[in-house]
Amino acid sequence: MKMKKLLLIQSTPYDLNRKPIKKKKLYFVGLALPLLAALTPQDWQVEIVLETIEDIPFDTDADLIAIGSMGHAIIRTIDIAEEFKKRGKTVILGGYMVSLMAEEAGKYCDSVVIGDAENVWGRVIEDYQKGELKSSYKEELTCLKTPLPRFDLILKKNIGDFLPIQAGRGCPNSCSFCSVYCLYKNKYLKREIADVIRDITQIKELGFSKFLLLDDNIIADRMYLLELCGEIKKLNMQWASQCSIKIGDDKELLEIVADSGCLALSFGLESISVESLKYMDKSWAKPKEYPERIKNIQAAGIDVSTEMVVGADGDTLQSIQDTAKFISDNKIVIPRFYILTPIPGTKYYEDLRAHHRIYKEDIYSYNGSEAVHIPKHMTPEELTKAYWDLYNEVFSISSIAKRTLFRKDFFTKMDRYIFYFMINIYYRYQIKRKITPNII
Ligand code: SF4
Repeated sequence: MKMKKLLLIQSTPYDLNRKPIKKKKLYFVGLALPLLAALTPQDWQVEIVLETIEDIPFDTDADLIAIGSMGHAIIRTIDIAEEFKKRGKTVILGGYMVSLMAEEAGKYCDSVVIGDAENVWGRVIEDYQKGELKSSYKEELTCLKTPLPRFDLILKKNIGDFLPIQAGRGCPNSCSFCSVYCLYKNKYLKREIADVIRDITQIKELGFSKFLLLDDNIIADRMYLLELCGEIKKLNMQWASQCSIKIGDDKELLEIVADSGCLALSFGLESISVESLKYMDKSWAKPKEYPERIKNIQAAGIDVSTEMVVGADGDTLQSIQDTAKFISDNKIVIPRFYILTPIPGTKYYEDLRAHHRIYKEDIYSYNGSEAVHIPKHMTPEELTKAYWDLYNEVFSISSIAKRTLFRKDFFTKMDRYIFYFMINIYYRYQIKRKITPNII
């Protein structure tokens, strides 16, 4: 009997001309599809397509199509789903954005997986085989246990020199704009350390010396992280991740994290405006303390990249301009920015809606690089312009050089700084084409 076939697709976002963004190489590979493949019964054949670097085989003989998307790729995801539906295929959608707007997403597919798939995926496949697929599946996780990801399905593709893993999911904080908070509501689920190490060992055995810990906030549990770092160190690998900037206060932890092989951390600093952070329910992040914390992190040998947003209620045109100086003065190696966007389902979206401050109703235009709300101290058009001006300033040749090449320790970490320089140049190339640099 012919094996059933599942096609898993990671979609790519559109550019401003509604063309799918394509790259020669995909550095940041998602974990969701290799995990879904591992959760699929063994009598199924599974194929993974990473649209950023591959074409979608719309004429596939697959029985079932499942599409996962990150952030703004949701629009593309829906278009792909419609195309497969036209061809008579059964389509399932999942991922963060789909989970936040499940009712809307459900219009374009046969079934929606809301939230984590671990506890429901087996049932989805079983129901499909019985012809009893339900319109949605949702079951909250109470503990996090995941199988060995099927990286064998992506190894031959043109991906970067590191693979993703995850130790924990969720975050104990409750920032109003955040989709992580929206889905996990302060819940923070951790995997058994032995399982995390099992996955890192697999990555090492596959010939990789680096991995990316995809957690939303790896310092959510200090004791857990200390124990994890002790085990990671034994594997002699290099890694990167993201967490709260508060780690900058903890020199002992920083030393242990760096000693375990951590090369770089990314921080969602969001804003240098106290007022803006207050509106985002993130008052605990103190901008005055950012420079000292960043200095401590860099002194431990860990490179700092940042994610920030503009357009919150404390932001003025001046504070957005000042952000460029902050990035340059603190020598942030990879800075990324977005316009604060009210994602449906978040508290921030509900607040703006209640105050009639949603400027663009079409949620499919929500791409993080155009204002869709009415800011407090400027017009939406001024915000969009200030956003691109900020990007152009931060990615000017002089700022790039100051942040990556003109550093006191340049000659001790030359390879790393040249690597960051090249990434910055690539981002600059994208910004000139009005493409927001992101991790796809
Ligand atoms: S700290 Fe980061 S992950 Fe946690 S709720 Fe805030 S924005 Fe979301």
